[in-house]
Amino acid sequence: MRVCKGCKLELGDRSFPKHSYSGTVRRRWFCRDCHNTRLRNSLKWRVTSILKQARRRAIAKNLPFTISRDWVKYRIENGVCELSGVEFVLSGTKKHPEPRAPSIERIDAHLGYTEENCRIIALCLNHLFNAWGEARSLEVVLRYVKERNATLADSS
Ligand SMILES: [Zn+2]
Repeated sequence: MRVCKGCKLELGDRSFPKHSYSGTVRRRWFCRDCHNTRLRNSLKWRVTSILKQARRRAIAKNLPFTISRDWVKYRIENGVCELSGVEFVLSGTKKHPEPRAPSIERIDAHLGYTEENCRIIALCLNHLFNAWGEARSLEVVLRYVKERNATLADSS
């Protein structure tokens, strides 16, 4: 039995993943669930994951793919959504996607996944633009924000 450093629960040894360190096998201080969550929320995992998805899309669409790992990492680590200025949140999962998660967007949908044609934006906006394109989404979004602000001003 040991106490997980994440959730503070006392769990059996088997609930802690093993890792091999200088030849001797040890168990981690975070339980399986906490370990996986920490891994998924890490910058390294996020960069690998969105690059892998983008590369898969590039292959499927037969488009060039030349984005480097460092390019993506730098933008997530030091930047915010290039369109909204929203700060990136790395805690989303496949089941429960995070709208502020960083995602790779192609500026010109006809061109490939190159550093010149891509930007890192909030997943929420990327989904919207994927469905209708930035220009067509914009009219509705702007009207919505205007209406919403008016409603908020009225109620205060
Ligand atoms: Zn735990």
